This record gives sequence, structure tokens and C-alpha cells, in this order.
Amino acid sequence: MITDGPRLRPDLEALPSYKAGQRPAPRSDITTYKISSNESHFPPLPSVQAAIVAAATEINRYPDPFSSELVTAIAQHFGVPSEHIALGTGSVALCGQIIQSAAGPGDNILYAWRSFESYPIWTGIAGAQSIQIPLRPDETHDLDAMLQAITPETRVIFICSPNNPTGQIVDPRELENFIAAVPSEIVIVLDEAYVEYVPQNKRSDSIRLYRENTNVVVLRTFSKAYGLAGLRVGFTISQEPITNALRKTALPFGVSSLAQAAAIASISAESELFERVALVTAERDRVVGELITMGYELNSNYANFVWMRLGSRTDVLHQALEHAGLSVRPFPDEGLRISIGETQANDRFIEVARQVASEFDVLR
Ligand SMILES: *Cc1c(COP(=O)(O)O)cnc(C)c1O
Repeated sequence: MITDGPRLRPDLEALPSYKAGQRPAPRSDITTYKISSNESHFPPLPSVQAAIVAAATEINRYPDPFSSELVTAIAQHFGVPSEHIALGTGSVALCGQIIQSAAGPGDNILYAWRSFESYPIWTGIAGAQSIQIPLRPDETHDLDAMLQAITPETRVIFICSPNNPTGQIVDPRELENFIAAVPSEIVIVLDEAYVEYVPQNKRSDSIRLYRENTNVVVLRTFSKAYGLAGLRVGFTISQEPITNALRKTALPFGVSSLAQAAAIASISAESELFERVALVTAERDRVVGELITMGYELNSNYANFVWMRLGSRTDVLHQALEHAGLSVRPFPDEGLRISIGETQANDRFIEVARQVASEFDVLR
């Protein structure tokens, strides 16, 4: 039989593909920096490396499929039952599992836009419909509009705080009122990938929110503040109905033995890691301060990156940064997301932003 090749789902054609932050090309004249993916620029802690090396002696075996030791460590850390923890190969995978667990064709998934690029992709893969609610002019989630947009087809709502790529947080009071107003059959995901960079007094008490609401899922990752982006491990905290569904939809043996060992070691080394977080937030505030002094208009930034909404002037600064050996994440005609990196990288970023501000009138 002659065919035109494999018959695949036509709707996949319309799916956006994930645009990963670029690595800079190595150059002989200058050190280049990758400040495009919001990773930790610090190398792994010696204690974490040692745990990985020790685990490497057993990689001929499958990992513990339940990641029992890691689940216990996370549960103890947050003071929650082990039955409320699900693990995934990065929190990105858990975003997909949440959607698969709750939605299919005909259903819709609600989230702010612009926000994390994985949401539309997973929604499309599930055959569900994305409902994107524009951010308010100050880049915060428009929770009133999100509430208005709920329909009987709504199955999942993502709240990304701090929001990637705009760096804004959702006000804790507003979030609480929002959750109270959303019908309890709709899953609400609190994507807190960057929560460690938020001052304590600005954070939502997401653990209490999950305890009080069967439909709330707290989504966390080891990729950012914990510096394990390359190992792919994230987790959720939610009550049994959702947690059980996430365990069912997980990739079998997905979280590797190296990732499990590294995550356990990272929880033990948390105070050391949080010292790094403090260095990053201090650098972020320094960078933001400099940019504002130059005349750039910026909202508050609560994560390990800076968001510059430059509109049609995005490309000018992007080109200049690339030219200077800095890979950042552009959103064409919208803005740039610049991760906080090594001090030298941040200094160079400031320097280029200053030159561009004076030469190209990007501020008008
Ligand atoms: C980086 C990021 C994640 C984490 O992804 P992992 O798969 O855990 O590496 C999740 N949500 C948002 C909004 C992010 O920016």
C-alpha cells in the first residue's frame, strides 16, 4: 500500500515548539555568558557532587520508581504527608501531567499571558484549548479577568508567581480571594519555580492554601534556586486525589537515581544554597537599580531574572547584547528576559544597556 508517510495528529502542526534559551557561541576575544535560561550560574556544591558521584556507582540499576527517600525528605521539609508529594522529570513534566490528569479535547486551560511557554504546549498536546488572559499593564496577573473567563469547560488554572518571563508576583491577598472564588472542581496550579527569590514577606502561604483546598497544587522545582537544572527533577504538593493522579501519569522511572540523590543532598545543603540565592537577589536589585537610573522603565522583579518590556526596541538591545557575548532570551517585539548571572556577566549587561540607551534612543 502506498501512503504519504505516517499519519500524525494534524493539530500538532499548530503547536508552538519550546524555545529554549540559547547558548552563546564560544569566542576567542571575550568570555561569553549564557544568561538566557534562568539557571543558577553557580557550579554544584561539593556535597551535591559527591552524592551524585556516589549514586553513579549504581546506575546499572533502575532508580527507585517511587523516589521514596526523596519524597520523605521533601515531606519532612515542608511538614506535609508523603502521600501529598509527586515527583516529575522537572516541574515542566508535572505541568503536562496535571493537564493530562484533568483535561482533554473540549476542555480548556486558563492562564495569564505572557507566561510560561510550557502551558500552551502541554495544553495543545492534550487536545485542550488555551484561554490566555492578558497581564495587567503593570505585568501582574489579572485575576478578576481570569475569574470572569472561567466556563464549565475550564479544568485547570495556572498561576505563575513569580511569572516567567515578567518577574511579577501575585499579591497573596488577591490569590487567596481568587482561590476562594474558583469552583473547587477546577485544579489551580501555583507554579512557584522562582519562589525562593521572593522576600518572605511577599510570599503567599502556598502550603496553607494547599492544605485548605483539595484543588490546589503547589508546583516546585530543583532547577532554579537549587541549581539542578541539568538533572530534571521537580515536585508537587497537593492532597491525595490530585497527587494520586500525578503518580499515575508519571513516566515510569522518570526521575533518575542521580537526580534523586542530588535533590536529597540539596535539601540538606539548603542553607548554603540560600546564601547563593541571597547573592543573586542582591545582584538583581543592583542591576535593576542601574537600569532605572539610566531611564529604563521597569516593574519590580522578584525572580532571578530581569524583564525589560522594550516593544519594537527589543531587537536593538538584543543585538547589542549578543554582540557583547551575552545570550539572553528575546521575545521579539515584546521584551527581553535577562537572567542574573556571574558578576562579570551582570556588569557587562549593565554596560551594554547604558551604551544602547545613549546611542539608540531605546528609552523613547
Ligand atoms: C524554569 C521553570 C520551571 C521549571 O522547570 P523544570 O522542568 O523544573 O526545570 C517551571 N515553571 C516555570 C514558570 C519556570 O520558569
